[in-house]
Amino acid sequence: MNHSLVLVVNCGSSSLKLAIVEPESGRRFVEALAERLFTAQADMTIHSREAGKTVISLPDADHAQAFEVFAAHLSTEKEMTSRIIGVSHRVVHGGEYFRCPVLVDGDVLQKINACSGLAPLHNPANLQGIHAAIRHFPELPQVAVFDTAFHQTLPETAYLYAIPYELYEKHQLRRYGFHGTSHNYLMLEAARRLGRPADQLNLLTLHLGNGCSACAIRQGRSVDTTMGLTPLEGLVMGTRSGDLDPGLILHLLEHMDFSSKEVDELLNRRSGLQGLSGLSNDMRTLAQAAQSGNRQARLAIEVFCFRLAKNIAALSVSCAPLDALVFSGGIGENSVQIRQRTLVWLAPLGFAVDEQNNRVHGKDSDGRISPMNTPDVRVIPTDEEVMLARGAVSLIAGESP
Ligand code: ADP
Repeated sequence: MNHSLVLVVNCGSSSLKLAIVEPESGRRFVEALAERLFTAQADMTIHSREAGKTVISLPDADHAQAFEVFAAHLSTEKEMTSRIIGVSHRVVHGGEYFRCPVLVDGDVLQKINACSGLAPLHNPANLQGIHAAIRHFPELPQVAVFDTAFHQTLPETAYLYAIPYELYEKHQLRRYGFHGTSHNYLMLEAARRLGRPADQLNLLTLHLGNGCSACAIRQGRSVDTTMGLTPLEGLVMGTRSGDLDPGLILHLLEHMDFSSKEVDELLNRRSGLQGLSGLSNDMRTLAQAAQSGNRQARLAIEVFCFRLAKNIAALSVSCAPLDALVFSGGIGENSVQIRQRTLVWLAPLGFAVDEQNNRVHGKDSDGRISPMNTPDVRVIPTDEEVMLARGAVSLIAGESP
């Protein structure tokens, strides 16, 4: 039987990720990744079930040009293209406007643009992707799915910063949270595996990739998360510092002659695992280096795990009694060592590791990596693209008479 397909579009600041996804099964028919856009080295790799792998050089291309190349590739696969019923776009910042996926119209475009000040690298790129898709597929419904939407249920106590309240009222300076699509997927998948409705579950979900965030979920709703106004707050990440004393920023500006641009670059691109290790932002590289005796690599891993454990403990106040702690993202899904070291810090809260199940990433135990008489800890691979595709389908289905 031929099912409907959704084109999923994810525009980063210098990358474009595209996938044609079958929403029910999660199967991918085509996947493409354009990287290093706006540079002479820009290229796009396309994996297609029909045509295999193709690499196309795209010197100095922008998002729109990369999208054009992808659309031209699709025109050679007419049968598959005819099954696409909509385009689903990942949009990073939806401010306080969006709590769920929406069909894109003029008003939505204006609001995404209005949030650009809060996500200057991401929202303009997301808009580029939407405009390119509208140009190429004017007949298809376009859907926007927001990274911030899942966290719009945060209570005031969790989203307010302790700064003058008028800065929130007049300028919307508050905590928003990100990776919402991933945390939402992990909640639904945990509910499926635990055999209980999501709205009865208390969970703590960890998305640990290049960007890292944790989310406290109480009865199916996000009630606290580690990222804030921007994706810089919270955990130690690949190149981002996560939490630090705001006084440190003042010190850099006032006493060390940093410009605001240099502080931005320092905290977003030269900190985190990269900054601590002086070696790499990639956890695999650090794990290997630490094993061969590199002290700084080992230190970066220790700080990462300690800060993660500390944040898990802090988030626990919002979601006790906990039904499951979920590890996900490239690091959470693949690193036996990071899971183990983090859980050792959490032993005072009763957490423990089943070493054998952890070693095989919970593959033999429906993801479970903790012993039966201790808090449930699972490894669950995330799938943001399938959430984007499903979000679009439910909206499009809801639209038809
Ligand atoms: P993104 O946020 O870009 O989607 P991923 O979710 O793919 O990133 O996560 C990338 C991170 O996952 C990198 O730090 C990478 O080193 C780490 N990672 C992937 N596989 C492993 C592994 N086997 N062991 C440790 N870390 C891993």
